[in-house]
Amino acid sequence: MLSSKYDVVIGLEIHAELNTKTKVFCSCKNTFGEEPNTNCCPVCVGLPGALPVLNKKAVENTIKAGLSVGCSINNLAVFERKNYFYPDLSKAYQISQLVRPICIGGNIKLDNGKTIRINRIHLEEDAGKLIHKTKTIGTLVDYNRGGIPLIELVTEPDFSNADEAVEFLDKLRRTYIYSGVANCKMEEGGMRCDVNISVKPHDSKELGIRTEMKNLNSFKMVKRAIEYESKRQIEELEKGNKIIQQTRKWDDNKGKSFALRSKENSHDYRYFPDPDLLTVEITQEDVEKIRSTLPELAQDRIKKYVEIYNLPLYDAKILTNEKFVSDYFEECLNLYNNPKQISNWIMTELLKVLKDKPNCENLNEIITKENLVSILELLDSKQITRPNSKILFENICFTSKNAKDVAKELGMLSSLSDEEIKDFVKQVINTNPDAILDFEKNPNKVIMFYTGKVMALTKGKANPITTQSFIKEILPNYLKK
Ligand code: ADP
Ligand code: MG
Ligand code: ZN
Repeated sequence: MLSSKYDVVIGLEIHAELNTKTKVFCSCKNTFGEEPNTNCCPVCVGLPGALPVLNKKAVENTIKAGLSVGCSINNLAVFERKNYFYPDLSKAYQISQLVRPICIGGNIKLDNGKTIRINRIHLEEDAGKLIHKTKTIGTLVDYNRGGIPLIELVTEPDFSNADEAVEFLDKLRRTYIYSGVANCKMEEGGMRCDVNISVKPHDSKELGIRTEMKNLNSFKMVKRAIEYESKRQIEELEKGNKIIQQTRKWDDNKGKSFALRSKENSHDYRYFPDPDLLTVEITQEDVEKIRSTLPELAQDRIKKYVEIYNLPLYDAKILTNEKFVSDYFEECLNLYNNPKQISNWIMTELLKVLKDKPNCENLNEIITKENLVSILELLDSKQITRPNSKILFENICFTSKNAKDVAKELGMLSSLSDEEIKDFVKQVINTNPDAILDFEKNPNKVIMFYTGKVMALTKGKANPITTQSFIKEILPNYLKK
């Protein structure tokens, strides 16, 4: 194969919008989906003379994001102007950080044991959004997004393939959501990824020339873009061509990347310290205070689920994919200590229902934790059968009904007295006497056979555990005959 002669080298730059109440340098709301250009002010559209005031919460969230991935925090952080002209940025510069970002270093470990080093996380302002309409209308611009606090995480070029990059993104997304700094709604552009790729022959020590694809906003897009672009570069090299350092546009519909412009370097932006903003002092005390508010993160939960609750890694990952799902799992676990059973129900039944409710962020809305646990208790104590447990679930989803009441109403609960069950046992033995002949050879099979008969006869109302014990008690009398 062609690709086996080459190493693929990838570095990511990942932007995430912080979930503060207000924007980063003004008091406009930090919201999504408002009428275009209704949520902006002289500061965030950059009218001359307007002065930015730094949002302290945005700095705290950046520090928190950094601590959650093992960064060190700079004691002095500086905001700089990154100068460029583009219609989404009316003041012709973006306030960002170059020389002294808030966070430096850090890393995330991949499941294959590899450590991906983080170079930095800095705080900047988001730009407005261009909306491309028809040819006659042209392109419109919405400045609402301008000034939303944005953190940019830059990795070292440590990835070797698309799967590693996607795994990192997934872990980072969970980390931000769990630590509460960002919602990372990729479909709303709340998390976006720039992918830098180069390829080099195996034996070469030097990295190859890279290209960059900006603003990929789904994991699938990142995967496809990396796979396409690394293949393209290898083919170019094989043809004897050179790779040109470029920014390329990824067209997800066509499944191809296109040259956009030759890639700019940081000196092209003429960064300089923003004279309107003071250097930010961050004391060790500030940092420790924020560190103490870090909650248990997704990675910690995955480890706990696997090592303490003995769940498969695959299940642990699905349960922690959304924090509210993992929270619900833990709430149920507090009420009923059967992790495997709870996990199975969430993964099969609840997540299936959730698929059709994209706006639901609390599984208690589907079924309260108390009701789910009631179903599991009824099931585990064999008071209801498995098929009936599913029917019961369907009957109480999205209602305020009580699981045990509904089970009773639907006649699912084993309501027979011991004497009645014994009579049924005798009845099924009498009507199926031949089965007894197998008892010496295969007692369990015979017991199960009669249990099945009793269950059928009573339409599932006999408790199978009780039934079995009565069969064991009664059968020997028949054997002696
Ligand atoms: P810039 O400021 O031009 O964006 P940086 O040096 O900050 O450049 O790097 C941006 C990203 O590109 C980082 O994630 C880095 O790991 C990655 N990168 C740098 N060199 C290469 C390369 N040769 N191949 C692949 N990725 C690279
Ligand atoms: Mg870049
Ligand atoms: Zn504003």
